Amino acid sequence: MNSTDLVIIGAGAAGMSAAIFASRQGLKTVVVSTDLGGQTNLAHVMENYPGIQEESGVRLMLIMATQVKKNGAEIVLQSVQNIARSGENWQVTTNHDVFSSKAVILAFGKTPSGLEIDNEKDFIGRGLCYSSQEEEGWWLDQNVAVVGSGNSAAEAIINHATKAKKIYWVVRGNQLKCNAINRRLIDLLPNNLNLLFNHRIMAINGKETIEGITVIAGDNKKTKLRVSGILSATGYRWQSEWLPENLIRDQSDRIVVDNDQRTNLPGLFAAGDVTDTNYQQTIIAAGDGAKAGLTAARYLGCRLANLDWGKDK
Ligand SMILES: Cc1cc2nc3c(=O)[nH]c(=O)nc-3n(C[C@H](O)[C@H](O)[C@H](O)COP(=O)(O)OP(=O)(O)OC[C@H]3O[C@@H](n4cnc5c(N)ncnc54)[C@H](O)[C@@H]3O)c2cc1C
Repeated sequence: MNSTDLVIIGAGAAGMSAAIFASRQGLKTVVVSTDLGGQTNLAHVMENYPGIQEESGVRLMLIMATQVKKNGAEIVLQSVQNIARSGENWQVTTNHDVFSSKAVILAFGKTPSGLEIDNEKDFIGRGLCYSSQEEEGWWLDQNVAVVGSGNSAAEAIINHATKAKKIYWVVRGNQLKCNAINRRLIDLLPNNLNLLFNHRIMAINGKETIEGITVIAGDNKKTKLRVSGILSATGYRWQSEWLPENLIRDQSDRIVVDNDQRTNLPGLFAAGDVTDTNYQQTIIAAGDGAKAGLTAARYLGCRLANLDWGKDK
């Protein structure tokens, strides 16, 4: 078993920022993550991160990873499967290793909800994507389907409608959930948009690439549509089934934290999109990550000095 002061789960903006701040406070820090960079990698151009100008998300995250390593933290590309309290410490189990850590920061972001159909996985990156920035090219002169009724779906359609041949907008309910501005912009679009209320995709047709979809309506009527791309903008899931049962989460399964990024459990902190923060942006994740790193250091300082952590607020 590997012993350390701090394990950070997730190498997105929150986790990497936490690692920079914690290791500068002298904590032996290990970042365990399934990938390097997280969702920010999907941002084609970052125009709202102070201090950088029109840098790609991937490049920004590579710079952060360099800073993490320069400050002495280690990054391990593994997937965490369980965390459990073990005496005063936390035991973090990954698909390869077990870490014993005095403190843990949860920074594992969120996951797209997806279409929830059987062959979905086969088409990821082959015409099926979860953000409009991922596959900008496939809109050009093509028939595409956009799934979801919120602002992400609406904004993708507004930005790309003039490029596409035809857009099928597949909406489960009987109304749009996007804001009033987006609704007005949608009304101004060219007439290549087919809005399918009370429909859902039941199958993707094709072998190597997407050739079409089968949609089913509320009255069970099935229709085959020829499309070569699908944007699934159906929201996100917060995957927390592997977390301790007594960790407090909100109705969406997001981890509830206080102003210093503390959860309700001792030595367990959280930052970024995985928490119940109001705003889910890279700069917010980085800022909250910095706070989590500093709070973890303060927690360990109190523990070392035998001070009551609860009173040190
Ligand atoms: C397409 C797109 C464009 C965006 N554009 C912008 C933008 O222009 N500007 C902006 O400010 N924000 C943008 N955002 C939002 C921004 O990317 C997020 O708010 C930010 O990435 C949140 O950072 P995070 O560190 O909390 O989580 P994430 O970036 O989601 O990172 C979580 C990390 O945890 C890892 N992980 C997950 N589960 C496990 C596990 N079990 N074990 C180990 N590791 C795990 C993941 O692999 C990932 O590396 C965009 C998001 C998307 C999807």
